[in-house]
Amino acid sequence: MSLLLTVHRAAHEIGGNCIELSASDGSRILLDAGRPLDAPEGQFVELIPKTLNTGLPVAGVLLSHPHQDHYGLLDALPASWAVYCGAASEKLIRLTAGIFGNSPSQSFHNWSSGKPFKLGTFTITALLTDHSAFDAHMLLIEGEGKRLLYSGDFRAHGRKSELVKRLMRSPPESIDALIMEGTNLGSIKPCSSETRLEEQFRELFIKTSDRVFVSWSAQNIDRTVTLYRACKATGRTLVVDLYTAEVMEMLAEFGKLPRPGWPNLKVVITKAFAHMYRKTGREEFVDRMAKHGIAAKQLANTPSKWVVMTRPSLIQDFESNGVKPSHTDSWSWSMWHGYLAGDDGKRVQDWFDRGQCQANHIHTSGHASPNDLRAFARAINPRFMVPVHGLAWDYKQENFPPIQRLTDGEVFTL
Ligand SMILES: [Zn+2]
Ligand SMILES: [Zn+2]
Repeated sequence: MSLLLTVHRAAHEIGGNCIELSASDGSRILLDAGRPLDAPEGQFVELIPKTLNTGLPVAGVLLSHPHQDHYGLLDALPASWAVYCGAASEKLIRLTAGIFGNSPSQSFHNWSSGKPFKLGTFTITALLTDHSAFDAHMLLIEGEGKRLLYSGDFRAHGRKSELVKRLMRSPPESIDALIMEGTNLGSIKPCSSETRLEEQFRELFIKTSDRVFVSWSAQNIDRTVTLYRACKATGRTLVVDLYTAEVMEMLAEFGKLPRPGWPNLKVVITKAFAHMYRKTGREEFVDRMAKHGIAAKQLANTPSKWVVMTRPSLIQDFESNGVKPSHTDSWSWSMWHGYLAGDDGKRVQDWFDRGQCQANHIHTSGHASPNDLRAFARAINPRFMVPVHGLAWDYKQENFPPIQRLTDGEVFTL
């Protein structure tokens, strides 16, 4: 009996995860099927790692969470490969595909966190965890007498941090291999808690006399909750776009999350977005949102009331409705600062600079700090660990359990 582990991709980069486990009876599973973060648009088949054999069946493709660098390869994989993930992850993946008029060709199956299920020789237990993506899971995998834990992407400072801390207090027994991400290893990205961010936003909302504009990712639900709570505490109203409203409405069944119809929340219905929804046959959603909606021009009135979501695709509509940032407004880039250097980031920054609007970078990483990575790995106490999803694993190895460094495509026998 032997179990073979192949990191097809992500041994030496952040994202694009594609990890295979195969048992001696031939059953295979994939842990994530991600697109590299720097992959050009389109070009799907070329993105399949050369060492991944797509000619043989797999018992399942397990998706740890709905970020493209963990599921974006699905389009290139055989339609016959069944996909397993959380129910909310499936919804988010379908929503994102729907925007481009697509839907995944594979059949989807949903797991329940903490409930083991079998795929071929393997027994899998998905464990809900803390990450900037909603519905992120770690995966405990048993097969051929071996036990592995795959961390997916995680952190210990978000709104679900208790899940990670609980796992550290009572870790699964006798783990042979921990396959772990290390995004923040060797970096000094901010890793303060979402609760601390909420305080910072509250202070910003109070000290700003007029509007506060915030750029954040609609699928970063922790951040939406943080902003909503800060709005409620300061008597402001959070204004989100149609896409964010759709995400919020869709996830309503998965917890007590803010959604259209709640106080202190409005949906701005802009021309460009509404047109895009109508074009893709989703006018029903736009019509339904009208009762929770406001027109962009209302944001020009009673400015001290609003905290306004800002993304490049909204700027044109804002401008033509007289919504222009000024020195009495402020704005916050609540995403990784590196994205500000991209085309979208620059457009947003220019817009605010033209209005001499005060900038505030309020953000925390979606990934664990270097200290938390070490503490987590030591708490799991595996026989050895296999690093993935990082850039500093070759020189930042101190205070981790024994490290088994693999290269992309190398077949390792457990
Ligand atoms: Zn990732
Ligand atoms: Zn992620």
